[in-house]
Amino acid sequence: MVYNRCGKSGIKLPSISLGLWHNFGGVDIFDNCRKLVKRAFDVGITHFDLANNYGPPPGSAEETFGQILKKDFAGLRDEMVISSKAGYYMWPGPYGDWGSKKYLVSSLDQSLKRMQLDYVDIFYSHRPDPETPLEETMAALDLIVRQGKALYVGISNYKADEAKKAIHILKELGTPCIIHQPKYSMFERWVEGGLLDVLEDNGVGCIAFSPLAQGMLTNKYLKGIPEGSRASKGQFLKPEMLTEEKLVTIRDLNQIAGTRGQSLAQMALAWILKDKRITSVLIGASSTEQLDDNLKTLKNLNFSKEELKKIDGILG
Ligand code: NDP
Repeated sequence: MVYNRCGKSGIKLPSISLGLWHNFGGVDIFDNCRKLVKRAFDVGITHFDLANNYGPPPGSAEETFGQILKKDFAGLRDEMVISSKAGYYMWPGPYGDWGSKKYLVSSLDQSLKRMQLDYVDIFYSHRPDPETPLEETMAALDLIVRQGKALYVGISNYKADEAKKAIHILKELGTPCIIHQPKYSMFERWVEGGLLDVLEDNGVGCIAFSPLAQGMLTNKYLKGIPEGSRASKGQFLKPEMLTEEKLVTIRDLNQIAGTRGQSLAQMALAWILKDKRITSVLIGASSTEQLDDNLKTLKNLNFSKEELKKIDGILG
């Protein structure tokens, strides 16, 4: 594993981190969840990313993770970086959604109970709230650190101008924002239009979520939609997103990956990690084989100018 400094903070994150959004819920097979977390840690993936609402049902991924920690990771807490978030709908009424101090503080208390932890390493505001003053959301993050419930704070899904303001407020409060978690992949390149510059200018790290576009940027869907795959479940990755046009693009990218001696998943991850402003790619996985495939990414993170040009041409 290669560990990269997260912005200008004191911590380093693995180039590849594991997210528990899918495949770790109460509906999933506990033994598989356990195998995944153990395998990840064994290959040097020290960072595990959660959120209050991961499941299904919401909250159950944190419970699963808590049970795994208890069973298999006794004495290893100090070798792990664990994150959680609040910002999306979690419970009924006006206090279980968005960015108020009331929601963020109580949600983290609940997350800690579910994971059976005293603190998380990173706590995020999961999305900006257009109604709550940004000052309040950032003050909640600052408070949480002062309460000892998180060591560091970050923001997720904030656009470049929103991120700039949030980073500034946190700096004034004395609790620096160390990381931003945006969606970034070959299919979702919005961060290139300003956000990455803001992060670099302010010494903030970047962890890219859904770097495989939920599995589209792998060889998984080249021959149809396999049973049990995320697209077959149809909730977050809808089969209609795999249009003929998209499949042509995926096939063309797969060919270039072949010429590089990589799987498409490996090339898609390497393509993000080639930018030194990226601290880590935050992948999901449903099997240890996928983890192993993705890990081999680190063998080749270099692209020739011609390869990059070809890829840009395919992506259009
Ligand atoms: P990816 O884009 O990495 O997609 C993961 C899925 O791709 C896997 O579940 C699997 O699909 C498939 N896959 C992975 N590796 C391979 C491989 N080598 N070969 C074939 N298929 C493969 O990421 P996710 O969308 O899962 O997101 C990752 C993490 O990012 C989340 O767990 C979460 O922590 C974070 N996230 C944050 C958000 C935010 O708002 N901050 C929003 C969304 C995600 P299958 O299950 O079908 O086998």
